[in-house]
Amino acid sequence: MSIPSYADRETQVDYKDYEFYVGDPCYVIADRRWSEFCDKLFALDGFKKNEDYYGTLKWEVNGRTYDIECHTSPGGDNTWDFHLNDDSGTKVSLPVDAGMLAIVPMECVCPEQMSRYGSITRLGAVFNTEPILETTNHSCGWVELNGVRDREYADNLCDECGEHDFHLEHCEYYGAMVCWGCWQEEESEEE
Ligand SMILES: [Zn+2]
Repeated sequence: MSIPSYADRETQVDYKDYEFYVGDPCYVIADRRWSEFCDKLFALDGFKKNEDYYGTLKWEVNGRTYDIECHTSPGGDNTWDFHLNDDSGTKVSLPVDAGMLAIVPMECVCPEQMSRYGSITRLGAVFNTEPILETTNHSCGWVELNGVRDREYADNLCDECGEHDFHLEHCEYYGAMVCWGCWQEEESEEE
C-alpha cells in the first residue's frame, strides 16, 4: 500500500509538539491567504520605513487572533545557519524565499502548506517558548536568534578587535586572522 506524501507520519506528528516556528512565513502560511498576509505586512509601520523590524501583525485562525512578529531578512533571500539547536534538537538553518523572517505561533501554521516540504524542521526552527529574533541590515547584515548570531557573522570575526568582517586576512604581526583596520606590517628590520 502506498502512503500519500501528505500523510507522511513525520509531517503529521512533529510540528504540533512545539509552540513556535521561526523562519520564512511563506512556507507555513497557506497560499490562499498569502495576499492577505502581505497586505497586513505592508500596512505595518516598520515595513513602510523599511526598518529591520517590520512589526507584529494580527493573524486570525479558527476565530482566534495571534501575533506574528515579522523582520527583514538582511540581503533578501538566503539561508541563515547557526551554531544553535532548536527544541527538536535540529541544527538551526533558516532558508528564506520571501525576503523575511517571522516568529509564527504553531496554531497559525497551515498543515497542508507545510507538508509540501515534508517536515517543519526543514523549513526553519521550532521552539516551546517564544524565541527572541533580531535582524539588521547594518554591518553587512546579521540575524540573531536567542542571542546567537548567524554563522556567516559568527565565523568571520577579527581576532584582534572582534568586529565582523567578510575579508579577514592572516596577519604575521599578530599571528591571527584580522580585519583590514587591524592588519599591520611585520616590524621592519631597521627598527
Ligand atoms: Zn579588527
